[in-house]
Amino acid sequence: METFLPITYLNDFVFCPYSIYLHQVFDNNSEDLYSATPQQRGKAEHDAIDTFEEPSRPSKAVLKGIYVISNKLGVYGKIDTLYLNKKRLVESKYSITTIYQGYYYQLWAQYFALTEMGFEIEEIAFYSIRDKKTHPTKIPQQKEFEELRNHIRKIARFDFESAMNVNSVKCSHCIYASLCDKTNIDHVYA
Ligand code: SF4
Repeated sequence: METFLPITYLNDFVFCPYSIYLHQVFDNNSEDLYSATPQQRGKAEHDAIDTFEEPSRPSKAVLKGIYVISNKLGVYGKIDTLYLNKKRLVESKYSITTIYQGYYYQLWAQYFALTEMGFEIEEIAFYSIRDKKTHPTKIPQQKEFEELRNHIRKIARFDFESAMNVNSVKCSHCIYASLCDKTNIDHVYA
């Protein structure tokens, strides 16, 4: 049976590969056990997006929180919002001050999965919920597809038992810090 990676891993791996291992370990427990305040707030805002209903009659022109899958890349996950009429895909995050490479990988994966599923997309963008800012970005091409595929292969082949460099700044902003055996640092949200 083929194994598919969750699209969220694409960003988590860039932040810290070991966070994926910890995510798997604690996946069966309540997220409240390890979610820090900003993550809980961001998740609440995200949940609001997933369950949002149009004020009048539900619009078939907007898809929110649907699952997508790419057989070519071997990934699956949820998108935030797809405006069908505008052919516009938007990935929302609670607060965007910097667009990290991992964010691009997530959005590119969503884009490639949707196009593989037959959707037409002409625009893609990030949306920062906290300051209501939209960040349009370029549609990924073959070069980005190859980069993404290499990133996914790297995750799939990663040895979580190998030695790794621990970045204390990242650890201090990592929701798993208090549970992580690679550091004694607690996250700043504790
Ligand atoms: S606490 Fe540090 S080493 Fe552990 S998963 Fe988080 S960022 Fe990685």
